[in-house]
Amino acid sequence: MNKRLIFPAIVLIMLVLTAAGRKEQKPLNLIIFIGDGMGTDQVYAGMTASGFTMTFPAFPVTGFSKTYAANRYITDSAAGGTAISTGEKTNNGMIAVRPDSTEIPTIMEIARKAGLSTGVVATSTVTHATPASFVAHDASRGSYEDIAKWFLKGTADVFIGGGINHFRARSDSADLTVELKKMGYDVVYSMNDLNNSKSGRIAGLLAEESMPYIDEGRDPYFLAAATDKAISVLSRNKKGFILMVEGSQIDWAAHDNNMKRTIDEVLDLDRAVRVAYDYAKKSGNTLIVVTADHETGGLSLTGGSIDGMNVSGTFGTKGHSAVMVPVFAFGPGASAFSGVQDNTDLFHDFIELLSLKK
Ligand code: MG
Ligand code: ZN
Repeated sequence: MNKRLIFPAIVLIMLVLTAAGRKEQKPLNLIIFIGDGMGTDQVYAGMTASGFTMTFPAFPVTGFSKTYAANRYITDSAAGGTAISTGEKTNNGMIAVRPDSTEIPTIMEIARKAGLSTGVVATSTVTHATPASFVAHDASRGSYEDIAKWFLKGTADVFIGGGINHFRARSDSADLTVELKKMGYDVVYSMNDLNNSKSGRIAGLLAEESMPYIDEGRDPYFLAAATDKAISVLSRNKKGFILMVEGSQIDWAAHDNNMKRTIDEVLDLDRAVRVAYDYAKKSGNTLIVVTADHETGGLSLTGGSIDGMNVSGTFGTKGHSAVMVPVFAFGPGASAFSGVQDNTDLFHDFIELLSLKK
C-alpha cells in the first residue's frame, strides 16, 4: 500500500471498529439486582466467606451510588428503591411518588408501554418497599394491601416472592388472585408449580408474609430458581425485558447485626446473579447491574482469614448508614455505571441504554 494511504486507512478502520463497538453498547434486556442493605463490607464479607468465588464482584465495571433521600441524609428502602425505579429522589417511606404525593412513572411502567416484558422477584413480600417501588405508587410504604392492588395493573408480567396475605387475607375480604387469573396470570404457591408453569404471566406467591431466612427453611436455591424462571418467561419477548431481583433479607440480617445471616443472604443474591450472568453471556444482549438501595448496620470488617475463609466484624448501628453503595455491571452498556453516581442516575442510564422515553 502507498505509504500516504496507510494513515487514512488506519483511521477509517478505527472509525468502523468504534462504530461497531458503539452499536454493541445497547442492551435489549436489563436485569437489576438490588441487595437491600448491601454495602461494600457486606460484599467483601461474602467474598471472603466464599473463598473469592462470587460472581458479581468479578464484573468488569464497578462504581458507587450516593443514596441520600430527598428529606434525609440516610435513606430507607422506599426512597432508595424509588430513586432507582423512577430517577427522582423522594422522602423516606414513599413509593414512586414525589414528596407532594404525585405519582412518578416507574421504569417498569415505561418499559411495558414500549412493549417490553417486566418482572420482579424478591425474598420479602412482593408488596414490600423495594419491589413495590417498581410497580406501585403510595405515599406510605406500609400500605401493603393498597400496594397489592397495583399488581392488578399488570405492570409486572412475572412477580415472585412472599405476600399471599396481602392478596387473599385482606381487610376488605377481596381475593385479588381472582382478578389476576382473569388477567391471564398463572397464580402459583409452590416452587414446583412455578417451575411447571407455561404461562407468560405468573404470580408466584410462596409465603403468607415474607419468605423465611435460609437457616429457618427457605430453599437456598429459591432466589436463583425464581430468577431463572423469570428470565425464561420474560425472554420470550423479542422486544426485550426488564427484571428486578431483590436480595431483600441482607437488610434484615444486618438490622439484627447478624453477621452469619448477612453473609448467607449476600451469597444467596450472588447465586441468583450467577443464573443471570450465564444467561447474559449466552444472549450477549443483556445488561446486568447489581447494586444496593443503602447500607445497613454500619458494618465494619475488623478481622478474618483468607485461608480460613472466615470474617468477623462489628456493626455501628441497628439502622441504615449514609455511606455510598457499590455498583457492579456486566454486558452491553456496562461502562455507564463506572464512577460515583447518584442513585437517580441509574434510572436515567437504564432509560438511555434501553432507548426508552420517559
Ligand atoms: Mg427491600
Ligand atoms: Zn432496612
